Amino acid sequence: MFAIREPLHFEDVISYLFLSDKEAALIDTGMGFFNINDIISDLTDLPITVLNTHSHSDHVGSNSEFDKVYGWEHDVSLKRSANTTLDPLFLELKDKKMFPDEITASEIEGWFIKPYSFIALNETNSLTIGDLKFKIIHSPGHSPDGICFYETNSKTLIAGDNLYMGPIFLQLEESNLKDYIESLKNLNDLDINLILGGHNEAFFDKTYINEIID
Ligand SMILES: [Zn+2]
Repeated sequence: MFAIREPLHFEDVISYLFLSDKEAALIDTGMGFFNINDIISDLTDLPITVLNTHSHSDHVGSNSEFDKVYGWEHDVSLKRSANTTLDPLFLELKDKKMFPDEITASEIEGWFIKPYSFIALNETNSLTIGDLKFKIIHSPGHSPDGICFYETNSKTLIAGDNLYMGPIFLQLEESNLKDYIESLKNLNDLDINLILGGHNEAFFDKTYINEIID
């Protein structure tokens, strides 16, 4: 498994590439400033299935480069997938101060998400990708369309923006603190070897869930 970090913005976004015998799963596609396929083609020739943890612009930026994308079935994810402008949530973040010097003001100004199609998931689904098995856990809180993916063989929890090292955004209009706590309690029931976060540090363990709940 590879962690692909997109470091050039105010919080590093991390996508994860899981390789199996016949197929590969790519969790989230970054902000879309760069062609993520260029990196992936250096790592594998396997066919790629994209799994989105949620539809915020910093996680779906390169979705349009892929034929097979899964995301949670929700009005916000449908709306964002069809829209060529950034969602308002991110317009205020299009501030040069939020990006390092390597990204120019015109690149930031020109940042938008290309429309993409996705296959809508609900909790009755599980996904088998080669010998990888992902359980789908709806985890609203940070966003209403948040999903955690739990890879059952390796007991790995892919948490997206529900868990990462750094301040979790729960002040957004679409966030819900009560839902977030419930989602964490639900995740805490899982037998977890490793957690993969959506930003900053790639790998950490389950003790972090308890720290946040406390
Ligand atoms: Zn997010």
